[in-house]
Order: sequence, then structure tokens, then C-alpha cells
Amino acid sequence: MSGALVLNATYEPLCVVPLRRAIVLVLAEKAVVVESAGAVLHSARLAIQAPTVVRLSRFVRVPYRSRVPLTRRAVMHRDGLRCAYCQHRADTIDHVVPRSRGGKHEWVNVVAACATCNHRKADRLLAELGWSLPFTPKEPAGFVGLAVGYVRDPAWEPYLDAWSHRDARGARDAWNDGDRVAS
Ligand SMILES: [Zn+2]
Repeated sequence: MSGALVLNATYEPLCVVPLRRAIVLVLAEKAVVVESAGAVLHSARLAIQAPTVVRLSRFVRVPYRSRVPLTRRAVMHRDGLRCAYCQHRADTIDHVVPRSRGGKHEWVNVVAACATCNHRKADRLLAELGWSLPFTPKEPAGFVGLAVGYVRDPAWEPYLDAWSHRDARGARDAWNDGDRVAS
């Protein structure tokens, strides 16, 4: 699904919306196009460049950055659909420290895994198998959760990067973790 990154008036990344929704915001003068892909969409009376990034005309107060719900889909997205143990395509979620060994169901203890590794690992600890993780699992920044389900557009990067300098544990760290697992 293609979408457009929505920035607050302050350029803070807020969310990703379907392209159609972004165009409605622009036509209603609630947002301006910051970046566009070059593709031009035609309606009966006008032509508009398909936006990849829009910025709200008025500042919207975001009361708090909600935590990203721990779902199978969100873990897959964080880990780039790659098994944390063998790097092949993941199709399950594994508790690094098994629940039967006291491991909790939380972001720092779950990784994407293929069925084979998950089955081989069973209820053992990584140290018992001589396995290790190529990254430290952590909760993704709020923005990553909001973009789940969308194709990530390279045009968003400068805006996510710029904002992550203000937020040390921001979107860029979370994206980088995803890249490392995916490569
Ligand atoms: Zn595997």
C-alpha cells in the first residue's frame, strides 16, 4: 500500500496515511505538499502531484506518544521479516528467553523466527545452543508502528532522520535495527 508521510507543522513525523487521504488534506488546504513522486493524478478539473510527504498547515498537539502494541505483525515489521537466528524468511515469533523459563512477552524478549529455528530452539536458552542474536531487540519508536503495512518510501528518510536527532531513541534507530536484520 502506498502512503504519504504526514509531518506536523513543526516537521515532526506524525503518521503515514493512504495517498488518497493525503490528497484530500492538500485539497482542503489542511496540508501542503513537501515532497512528491512526480506522478500526476488527474481529476475532472485539476491535476495534483502525488505527494510522498505532506506537512500540516496548523500545528497539531500530540498529547503523548503511545506505545507500539506488541503484535506478531509489528514484530515481523521491526525485524524485517527475517529470522533472527538464520536470517531466512520468518514466519513465527520466538520468545528469546522461553516463557517456560521465565521469559516475558515484551518487546525486548521477542524476535521474528522461522519455524525451523523456533522448533529447534524449543524451550532452551541461546547460551545452551551456542546461538546469539545479531541485534538487541527493543521496542520500536512510535512512528514505526504507525507506518506498519506501508511500503517504506526513501523520500521519508530525511524527515525521519532530522527528527531522530531530537529524540535519541527515535525512528532512525528503530529503522536501522530493521535494516540490519534484513541484510
Ligand atoms: Zn531460522
